[in-house]
Amino acid sequence: MTIDRRRFLAGAAGASGALLGACASPNPTPSATPTAAAAAAAAPPPPRPFFIGDPGQALLPRGSAPRVVVAGGGWGGLTTAKHLRRLAPGAEVVLLEKNPVFFSCPLSNKWLVDVVDDAFLTHDYLRVADRHGYRYVQCEVTAVDRRARRVHSSAGWLDYDYLVLAPGIRYDYEAWFGNDRRAADAARQRFPAAYVPNAEHHALKRALKSFKGGDWVMTLPPPPQRCPPSPYERACMVAWHFKTNKIPGRVTILDHKSGVAPIGPGFRAAFEELYKDYIRYVPNAAVLEVDPFNRRIKTKAGEMRFDHAVLMAPHQAGDLAWKADAIGRTPEGKASGWADVDPQMLHLRGDDRVYVIGDAVGVVAPSFRFYPKSAHVANAHGQIVAGYLAERLAGRRPTTKLPDNLCYMMVNAGPREAVSVQFDYTLNAQGVIEQTQIDDNDRRAELVAENFRWAGLKFEDMFG
Ligand SMILES: Cc1cc2nc3c(=O)[nH]c(=O)nc-3n(C[C@H](O)[C@H](O)[C@H](O)COP(=O)(O)OP(=O)(O)OC[C@H]3O[C@@H](n4cnc5c(N)ncnc54)[C@H](O)[C@@H]3O)c2cc1C
Repeated sequence: MTIDRRRFLAGAAGASGALLGACASPNPTPSATPTAAAAAAAAPPPPRPFFIGDPGQALLPRGSAPRVVVAGGGWGGLTTAKHLRRLAPGAEVVLLEKNPVFFSCPLSNKWLVDVVDDAFLTHDYLRVADRHGYRYVQCEVTAVDRRARRVHSSAGWLDYDYLVLAPGIRYDYEAWFGNDRRAADAARQRFPAAYVPNAEHHALKRALKSFKGGDWVMTLPPPPQRCPPSPYERACMVAWHFKTNKIPGRVTILDHKSGVAPIGPGFRAAFEELYKDYIRYVPNAAVLEVDPFNRRIKTKAGEMRFDHAVLMAPHQAGDLAWKADAIGRTPEGKASGWADVDPQMLHLRGDDRVYVIGDAVGVVAPSFRFYPKSAHVANAHGQIVAGYLAERLAGRRPTTKLPDNLCYMMVNAGPREAVSVQFDYTLNAQGVIEQTQIDDNDRRAELVAENFRWAGLKFEDMFG
């Protein structure tokens, strides 16, 4: 039997009328009125559906398995969750991540100029959690009570035996704007840095695609920063877009540092040989003032107006590391901005139940100070900490493992050419970590192919 639209609506009206009658009769019987009202007042409120998240309730029931909570599901957190399930199948692993999908910062500069598409950078949390048997909960971690070993989130609280913090970075807009929230919000919304994955990248791509010409400015933060060579790669991709599409634009790189590094000769050759009329490089340009409303910027190297800007405020460990009270102190007693970890074991100094991995990690050695804040290192940290935890859960003492690092940076999108940098780490006789760095400045197509192989292997490691 088919129901035509008129009969369906008539039926629906009748049904809703019946419901209305049941809820609030327009002519209540006198005998029902006082007693029904009193009964309604005394009755407990109707039960709320069980699965509505509430910061005040337990997020998950506690079983007998040891529980590892991974807070932050980017490069480091995803790697930890997957490898931990493989290495310690008896542990309960819960990944808390605020984003609904994973968006890769590596290769996102190439995505800006359509060398790769959305699908290449975007991955599915639910599928990988299901495949490897860990639980992914989309929520924001709001606080960490380390004394009680409890994580609070927008969806409820969760007790842990071990906690892995993998929060990435935050922008220190306070360094530019003090407590002027309006200016900080304007900078973030109109001229996003796109160094934290997802929404900002889409805003940047829109800005690039609609740019008709003029001054495109990029401020580079002081070290340590997320992926130091990537702003130079981004400048090359933007300049390539201007050149290829005959857009009368010029990229000005306002670098806090005194010179291009790493891969300095490789990038400088690209600026001069490929983008002479499109890139202007300004060293020693520490930012002094930013006016996002009037599009003006003042640096130690001079002042300028811009038509569009990629405003990169200084970087720090992500908010979550601050909420967990994981930030170290400088010798002067100020917040260092980065997590205070044991350099070899990667747990917090003074709390070996809490690990920190990836970009949020603070000083690990006196000579080079910080590991490069890269996806390669975060992925390596994820594998290392999963191994450490598996050993501890099995009652054994883990032995030190160190990461390595490898980054490929595209400098030309047609023909496609890249440069690269590699870092290796060893422990010296005093137990101090040492670094060696090899820059490959010779731009060529072969490094682009290697970059895509690297990405394939890393995505497979996290999502396969
Ligand atoms: C343009 C660009 C290019 C790059 N290119 C390369 C490259 O070629 N090679 C390379 O190795 N690296 C590259 N990087 C660096 C790389 O992206 C980072 O080093 C890497 O993402 C660090 O991993 P992470 O796990 O520490 O942080 P992230 O990957 O940022 O993960 C942090 C996660 O924590 C989540 N989170 C934060 N706070 C909360 C909270 N309170 N509650 C719940 N979830 C939270 C975030 O949503 C995020 O998913 C590049 C970066 C950029 C911006």
